[in-house]
Parts: sequence; C-alpha cells; structure tokens
Amino acid sequence: MYPFVYKSLPLRIVFGEGTSARLAEEADLLAIRRALVLTTPGHEQLGRAMAGRLGDRFAGLFAGAVMHTPVGVTEDALKRAADLKADGVIAVGGGSTVGLGKAIALRTGLPQIAIPTTYAGSEMTPILGETQNGVKTTRSSPEIMPRTVIYDVDLTLSLPVRVATVSGMNALAHSVEALDAKDRNPVVSLMAADAIRAIVSALPDIARTPDDVNARSLALYGAWLSGLCLGSVGMALHHKLCHVLGGTFNLPHAETHAIVLPHAMAYNSVAVPDVEKQIAEILGAHGAASALHDLAHRLGIPASLREIGMPEAGIDRAAELAIANPYWNPRPLERGDIRELIARAWAGEQPL
Ligand code: NAD
Repeated sequence: MYPFVYKSLPLRIVFGEGTSARLAEEADLLAIRRALVLTTPGHEQLGRAMAGRLGDRFAGLFAGAVMHTPVGVTEDALKRAADLKADGVIAVGGGSTVGLGKAIALRTGLPQIAIPTTYAGSEMTPILGETQNGVKTTRSSPEIMPRTVIYDVDLTLSLPVRVATVSGMNALAHSVEALDAKDRNPVVSLMAADAIRAIVSALPDIARTPDDVNARSLALYGAWLSGLCLGSVGMALHHKLCHVLGGTFNLPHAETHAIVLPHAMAYNSVAVPDVEKQIAEILGAHGAASALHDLAHRLGIPASLREIGMPEAGIDRAAELAIANPYWNPRPLERGDIRELIARAWAGEQPL
C-alpha cells in the first residue's frame, strides 16, 4: 500500500429522479430567501421551472451564462444580484452556468446550490476558470464550492445525444487522470474506477436509446464521482493539454477532452502500466487507450482536433505551451513526443 493523505470536501449531495422538486427545502436549509437563478441564454425555461419550485424564495433570473466564465458577464450578474438583494444563487445548467454561480459566490460569499445538467463536473470542485481580455486564469478556494448539489436525472433527459456523449467523455477524463494522480488515495481510486465503469456502460445505451432513464442515471452518477475525483486530486498531462488547446484556439471544452483523452492515456501508459491494465480490464479490452478511442468513434464523437476548429499551424505552439510551465506528470514531458501526441489528435489518428 502506498502512503497517502485523504481530505474530503464539505458538500451536500441530493441525487435521483425528480430531485429538483426538493429545491425549496434545500434553499431553506441554507436560509436562502431571495434566490437569483442562473441559466445560459437558451435555457430560460429551465430557470423558470426552478423559479416555480422556489415559490416566494425566487427573486429573479439571470439567463446570461456563457462558456469559460467571462468576467464581464459575472459583473452583469453581480449587478443583477445586488439590484434584487439576492441572498443566494441557484445555477441550473452545464459547466458554463455552474461556473458563473461559482464566480458570484467567490465575490459575494452568497451560498450557492448547483443543479448540473451535463457531466462536466465543475460543481464538485473548488476551482474557477475565468476569462478576461482573452486570457484564462484559474483559481481555487473553498468559497468557490457550491454548498449543495442537486443531481436530477430528469433534467438531463433533454441533453442531446451528441452533447451527452462528449460530456460523458469529459467526465471520464477526470476519473482516468485521478487513477494515476500524484496525490491519489484509495477512496478517490475507488470512486474513479466506479465512475469509469458507470460511464462506459451508460454512454452506448444513451446513444442507442436516448430516453433510457437508467442509462442517464448511471451517466450522471459517474459524472458526480468523476467531478469528485477532479475536485480531490491533482490532474496532469490530459487536463493541461485541454486547458492549453481550449484556451489558445477557443475549442469547445467537452469535445477537446473527448478527442485528447485516448492520446494522453497512451502517452502515460508506459509510466503507469498498472493503471493502464486496470482501465483496460474495466473496458474489457487489451489496450485502454485504443479501446477509448474506439468507444469515442462508435459514439460518433469527432475524432480530430481539426474537425473542431484547431488550425494545423497551431500544433507546434500547443506543444510549446504544454511544456512551458513544468508540472507533475507520471511520464516526463518530452517536447517531441508531446508534439507527436498533439499532431495525432489533430489528425484523428489512433493513439500511439
Ligand atoms: P455548457 O455548460 O456550455 O453545456 C454544454 C451544452 O449543453 C450547451 O450547448 C448547453 O446549452 C447544453 N445543455 C446543458 N444542459 C442542457 C439540458 N438540460 N438540455 C439540453 N441541453 C443542455 O458546457 P459544459 O461542457 O457542461 O461545461 C464546460 C464549461 O465548464 C467550461 O467553461 C469549462 O471550463 C467549465 N468547467 C469547469 C470545471 C471546474 O472545475 N472549474 C470543470 C469542468 C468544466
């Protein structure tokens, strides 16, 4: 047994079908009497449904959340919160909406409830990524964490198959990297393994039968565990690469993760063969990276960074940025091999 430190996150989780019906009760537990509800511009309806559940605890809606939490949007939302004299924030939606809730909580100390409807996992981390003038910065603080997270499977049924599958691969990336994290511990490893099992079982079922509630439940359960992994231990090459690629070329978050994951796994597999073997066993395959690449292909996920908008000329720049600030990774970062990894992901080739 390896030595470890285990720290748990202070969080209340409510999981199940129809659980958002308990929103008022949960708001009462946090003494929220004037809630500001947050959504992205396309999902005001969802926000209004939550308003109905809050009854007279609903103060107003801000339907302006966008990806990568631009500081200008946060400032608009803060103004709305102040005008409404809001004493709590309810974020309902994917990682973009959850990110806005975190940004408001950090600046105001208001209690927040997150109701995630994708598998990105942001609601389980004390990390906030924000953009200003095209630069993305990340910070971590306990005040950023939602106090309560309500996972309502029913709210994920409308997630289109294409969004659900890439978002599922995004969640998988958190669990995969948690298994070989520098600060891994037995509890996180158990959660990561169960998350991988749940997600790889659920995604093909969702692709075949989008209204399969059991599959949607399993995927959301796996996403919860994956988010916990992301919030509990440090991430390495895969997340660093996705951060660089997403930030530099403005690539869509979940798709970038889905495409890069098999390549990053392949890169690290020689350094952590036990982890590679464990994941391969869960996947029922010989090689973990190639099995994940094949799964993504079967799910119809874009295979290449080229397809999602990365220019070929960016490969060298991405390789430079990925090794510019050294960080821990199970296998040392070698510029030539990292460039090869990015080039293969760009072209949609099999992972090496
Ligand atoms: P997102 O919130 O933009 O949602 C992805 C897509 O799903 C959008 O098109 C959205 O409209 C759609 N969608 C969401 N819920 C839906 C529903 N119920 N029905 C139908 N469609 C729905 O993106 P995301 O992938 O969930 O999150 C990405 C963002 O989260 C990025 O900004 C990323 O940086 C951030 N993130 C942060 C952390 C962290 O720990 N700080 C972790 C993961 C992701």
